[in-house]
Amino acid sequence: MNSGNSDDNPKFLVVVERDKCTSCGTCEDACPELFELDSESLAHIKGSKRVGNNDELGVETEDCSLDAAESCPVMCIHVYEDGEELI
Ligand code: SF4
Repeated sequence: MNSGNSDDNPKFLVVVERDKCTSCGTCEDACPELFELDSESLAHIKGSKRVGNNDELGVETEDCSLDAAESCPVMCIHVYEDGEELI
């Protein structure tokens, strides 16, 4: 396929469990490159795909995703490196 991205085997996977999100906006403040609140005021990962009610995005560097995950008061942001959960 000619998808033109590395989504098939990313180094890191960033996941938000939107069902747990309390719309506090902390992740957006900590990592506006990746996170925003959507029209439902739930956390959305920019450019992600929706899996169930989660957002998932494969990325090659963790950037500020770990900052966002650590800042989330309900721990509903997760970051995986090579399939291993970092947070
Ligand atoms: S920090 Fe957590 S609870 Fe707050 S908006 Fe982001 S994902 Fe939702």
